[in-house]
Amino acid sequence: MSEENYKINFVSVVVPVYNEAGCLQELIDRTLKTLDGCSCRSEFILIDDGSRDDSWNIIARASEQRPDQVIGVRLNRNYGQHSAIMAGFEQVRGDLIITIDADLQNPPEEIPNLIAAAEQGNDVVGTIRQNRQDTLFRRMASKVVNRVAQAATGVKMCDYGCMLRAYRRFVVDAMLQCHERSTFIPVLGNSFARNTCEIPVGHCERKVGDSKYSLWKLINLQFNLLTCMTTLPLRVLTYFGLAAAFCGFLLSCYIIIRRFFIAGGDHWGNQGVFTLFAVMFVFTGIHMVGIGVIGEYIGRLYNDVRARPRYFVEKIIGRK
Ligand code: UDP
Ligand code: MG
Repeated sequence: MSEENYKINFVSVVVPVYNEAGCLQELIDRTLKTLDGCSCRSEFILIDDGSRDDSWNIIARASEQRPDQVIGVRLNRNYGQHSAIMAGFEQVRGDLIITIDADLQNPPEEIPNLIAAAEQGNDVVGTIRQNRQDTLFRRMASKVVNRVAQAATGVKMCDYGCMLRAYRRFVVDAMLQCHERSTFIPVLGNSFARNTCEIPVGHCERKVGDSKYSLWKLINLQFNLLTCMTTLPLRVLTYFGLAAAFCGFLLSCYIIIRRFFIAGGDHWGNQGVFTLFAVMFVFTGIHMVGIGVIGEYIGRLYNDVRARPRYFVEKIIGRK
C-alpha cells in the first residue's frame, strides 16, 4: 500500500437548476448550513439551465449575500441536466466535487457522508436511494438502465440514476476533456475512476413542481447512456445478419438432401418456394452483415470524433 493522502480540503457542490424556484431557497439554505458544518473549505455552484421562472434571481441573491461561496452560472437556454453539470464542472476549484439535484429529493445533509467515503480513498462515491419515492414505472426503467450501464462500463454500481455523487478532481478534469455533446455523467465518471463505492442515502418525494423529465426526454437519456460507452448497437446488425445467413444455409442443405436422397423428396418444398426462401435468407443475411460492417466503421469514426483522452495520467514520480 502506498501512503496516499486522501484528505479533502476543499469541496465544490454543483447543482443544475431548471425552473426550481419553488424549492431553490430551501436547497440553498440547507446546503450552505451543511457546508458550514464541514471542516473543509467549500463552494456552492448553481447552474441556471435556462429557467423561465424566478430561479436565476434566487441564485443571484444568494451569491450577493455570500459572494465568496455561492457562484451562479447562467446558461442562455435549456441544454439539459448533464450539459448544465458540465458547465458547472468548468468552474470548480475544489478537490472533491459533489453533484446534487435541486429538487431536494436527495437531502443535502448527506454531503458529509460522501466526503467521508471519498476520504477512505474512493475516486467516485455513488449513492443508493433508500426506499425510493418514485413511480413504479420510473423504478422499473431504472432497473433496466442500471443493468445496461453495468454491462457497458463493467463497473458494478447499483444506482446510476441517483445524481447525488462525489468525484475527485482528476475525474472531473478527465470528464471535461471529453468533448462529445451527449453524455451521461455518472457512467462517464466511473470510466475514469480506480476505486468506487456506493453509500445508502435517503430519498424523498419531489415536494414542489414536476419532474423535468418527460417520457421522451427519458428515452433520449437512455440512448445517451448506451452510446456513451459502447458502439454495440451498431454491431448488433452484423450478428443478426450472420444468424440469418446461417439459417438460410442450413435450410438449403436440408432442401438439397430431401431432393436427392429421400424418396418422394421432389414433391416436398412446395415447387421450389422453400428454395426461394433459403436463397432469400442467405442474401438478406449478407445485406445485414454489409450494413453492420459499415456500422463498424461508423463506430470507429464516432470514437475518433469524440476524441476522448485515451488515458489520463494521475501523476508522474521520479522527475523534477
Ligand atoms: N434539470 C436541468 N435541466 C433539465 C432538466 C433537469 O438542469 O433540462 C435539473 C433539475 O432542475 C434538477 C435535476 O436536473 O435539479 C434533476 O431533474 P428532475 O428532478 O426533474 O429529474 P428526476 O428526479 O425526475 O429524475
Ligand atoms: Mg428529481
